[in-house]
Amino acid sequence: MSPSLQAQIEACRLCRARFRATATAHEPRPVVWFARGARILVVGQAPGIRVHETGRPFNDRSGDRLRDWMGVDRETFYDRTRLAIAPMAFCFPGYDAKGADLPPPAICAETWRDRVNAEIGPVDLTLLVGGAAQRWYLGTRSVTETVRGWRAHAPGLFPLPHPSWRNTGWLKKNPWFEAELLPVLRARVKELT
Ligand code: SF4
Repeated sequence: MSPSLQAQIEACRLCRARFRATATAHEPRPVVWFARGARILVVGQAPGIRVHETGRPFNDRSGDRLRDWMGVDRETFYDRTRLAIAPMAFCFPGYDAKGADLPPPAICAETWRDRVNAEIGPVDLTLLVGGAAQRWYLGTRSVTETVRGWRAHAPGLFPLPHPSWRNTGWLKKNPWFEAELLPVLRARVKELT
């Protein structure tokens, strides 16, 4: 019997040389958290350092904010029968010269994305969290413009900014996000969980 797709991704080391060349010189550690039949798909960017260390997606302050946006507790969020969490890259990519996370390596989505989506199957709600996911699924470049146009995609899909604390300024500048988008998103998530 061939290994499951999840096991194949967990064994993936395609980015070993790329990660070794970063300041952290870390080994790839794919964080895989999805199963067939989930009704909600969360497509993030790539794990941060805390997720890399713990092996659990969104197990950080970004995750706390994302769960607040969705109106779910940790138990619901980590129930793979209800939520699939499949980022644009499954490993922590390292830091750039300014100490920010590097973007997800494109090779990850090129290698795995179509197979991951086929494995999860059709979902009722997709959350595109951040620019990389929005570029891949919608072909858009500006996160602000894409999220501002959320009504064109709801209720089956919501583009969201990344919930990183680095984006607190963005949230202050765009109060319509919390006032208008989040109540609709929370209602949709409630219907499906
Ligand atoms: S980021 Fe993706 S392609 Fe690169 S080693 Fe991790 S699982 Fe493999």
